[in-house]
Amino acid sequence: MSSSTKTLLELRGRSVAGLETCIEVPSLKLLLDVGSCSRSAVNHRRVLISHGHLDHIGAIAQHAARRSLLGMEEGEYFVPSEIASQVEALFNAAGALDGQVIPRRIVPLSPGRDEPLGKRRTLRPFRTFHRVPSQGYTVWETRSRLRAEFRGMPGEELGALRRRGVEVAEAHEVPLLSFTGDTRVEVLEQTPELQQTECLVIEASFLDERVPVAQARDMGHIHLDELVDRHELLPKTDVVLSHFSSRYTTEEVTLLLKRKLPAERFAQARAL
Ligand SMILES: [Zn+2]
Ligand SMILES: [Zn+2]
Repeated sequence: MSSSTKTLLELRGRSVAGLETCIEVPSLKLLLDVGSCSRSAVNHRRVLISHGHLDHIGAIAQHAARRSLLGMEEGEYFVPSEIASQVEALFNAAGALDGQVIPRRIVPLSPGRDEPLGKRRTLRPFRTFHRVPSQGYTVWETRSRLRAEFRGMPGEELGALRRRGVEVAEAHEVPLLSFTGDTRVEVLEQTPELQQTECLVIEASFLDERVPVAQARDMGHIHLDELVDRHELLPKTDVVLSHFSSRYTTEEVTLLLKRKLPAERFAQARAL
């Protein structure tokens, strides 16, 4: 699929509907959900939890306990505020079974509440539309750019202005990565930043008539046909489709994406 020569954000892991979602983002040192926990997933201290379904959160205590066993700093788990107390209870039960207090830091977040990540980056949740409390996340980066009135000005003149104390640059925020978790498709209409984000990881649980659109919506998921209808709302940069139902083989996924997506969209899509 993606044949772009531009370096894409490295993503590692798996996302299969109902089974497991756990995606590593090494350059941002983040884990997107922790429905399973590989040896390398343990290295990522910060985990963004989209919702409480077990294929997304089932290995949270294991992740934290393994970090503790390996002498690593306690994991940080960003969770929708509505489920924070249940996640605490889950940790307490897991710790009681395991005969230890499992070190962890649970950070309740909700849309409108930002969390600084350091390195001029900010984590900002957005609303998603699933069967249980849920949210997606965008990582924003603050960058510097020339103010509009100075763009195109030769470097010498800019240098002279700077020496005179003129502020020629301004800060602006760029969305680096957006992760939807499980959701209905209206997340695209409701979240304008998803069109601008440099990398969009979005679910597409169902791909053909074996599960029709109405049924996908009932279950709180996206059908590929809905994305095809709204492909102009997808970013032009990097779209990672994920969370396919296990009924589709890898070959079927590629075939169905190729058949249904407009050619230029297929060329820029990735499947996880
Ligand atoms: Zn799921
Ligand atoms: Zn779910």
